[in-house]
Amino acid sequence: MILILEANTDPHGAEYKKLMDALANLPNIKSRVHTVHGAQQTLTEVYLIGDTAGLLIEEMRSLPTVERVVKVSQPYRVLGRHKDDHRATSFEYNGVRFAQDNLHVFAGLCAVSTPEHVEAMMRALRDNGQVCTRMGAYKPRTSPYSFQGHGKDCLPYVFRLAGQYGIKVIAMEITHDTHVEEIRDALRETGHPTGVMLQIGTRNIQNFELLKSVGRQQDFPVLLKRGFGITLEESLNAAEYLASEGNRNVVFCLRGMKTNMSDPHRNFVDFSHVPVVHRLTRMPVCVDPSHSVGSRDVAPDGILDVFHVTAQGVIAGANMVLVDFHPEPAKALVDGPQALTLQELPRFLEDVRIAREAYEKRVALAGKSASG
Ligand code: PEP
Ligand code: MN
Repeated sequence: MILILEANTDPHGAEYKKLMDALANLPNIKSRVHTVHGAQQTLTEVYLIGDTAGLLIEEMRSLPTVERVVKVSQPYRVLGRHKDDHRATSFEYNGVRFAQDNLHVFAGLCAVSTPEHVEAMMRALRDNGQVCTRMGAYKPRTSPYSFQGHGKDCLPYVFRLAGQYGIKVIAMEITHDTHVEEIRDALRETGHPTGVMLQIGTRNIQNFELLKSVGRQQDFPVLLKRGFGITLEESLNAAEYLASEGNRNVVFCLRGMKTNMSDPHRNFVDFSHVPVVHRLTRMPVCVDPSHSVGSRDVAPDGILDVFHVTAQGVIAGANMVLVDFHPEPAKALVDGPQALTLQELPRFLEDVRIAREAYEKRVALAGKSASG
């Protein structure tokens, strides 16, 4: 059960204390408070955990400062959508709004190679009006002998160049909680020229200790990639680990499922789940066409498979596209065969725009708004 308190409730006020005392007297129930600081107001939500089945909505509603009560009807308590639940389906980070009703493209390097490549990428993004990118510094690789990423050494120049070219958010995978510290330190040393969305990859989605520690920090939002060999429910529960520890600024990323039934694609494209994740949760949904398809194959209509599946995700309402580009794919240190070139960037963005427009027309036809 979630108690939504009146806006701007004072956590040091007498009414709030009365509420907390009443909650402390409920047997076998623990409460966890979450505060959302918006531009206009501060919202406080109190999550009641434990033996809540016997609690009466009307009684809880009559407690001091309580404005609304949401009965949790399904397993994703914090991030899920519940009956009469009007909590936000969006969040803002570093001036960029992530929401179930808008779309951002994160085109960039799967793995940082050289400062020259990073700069060429950032320049192309700026020239095409983009403020987000992806940059891999820590790469989880199948073989221990493969390139593992430049790690913290590349962070200062990546962040400085991002600031120079107006990039506001970089999606960057981390595989250990020490990486979060390294990112925080490098941002501080370079004067916070940009922001970082921490990416937790498909291989780490059930690394519960990593989820818990990333969930405990609230400096950075998180991009959580669906597990490639587990159910959707298991992956959404992993997102709930982040949220239950305190970080609700989570974007959920579909990136294809591992099965040889998907051949010749690298993974089986699962973008039909975009509306499903919208229905079950309040998270914005990302699609990763590069890791789904894994090649630069072209269909007879002249459109690359990567473009085709991107459009499939976007026309289904995706809110973010994470896509591999490289100035010189032949020299990419990771995943060169699936990277798009900088010359292809304007066409890619136009293709995304067409698909988004089609999605918006479909929503209008249904007589709804995109955030539901
Ligand atoms: C990546 O985005 O570079 C990556 C390794 O993705 P995934 O975790 O989906 O394999
Ligand atoms: Mn990759």
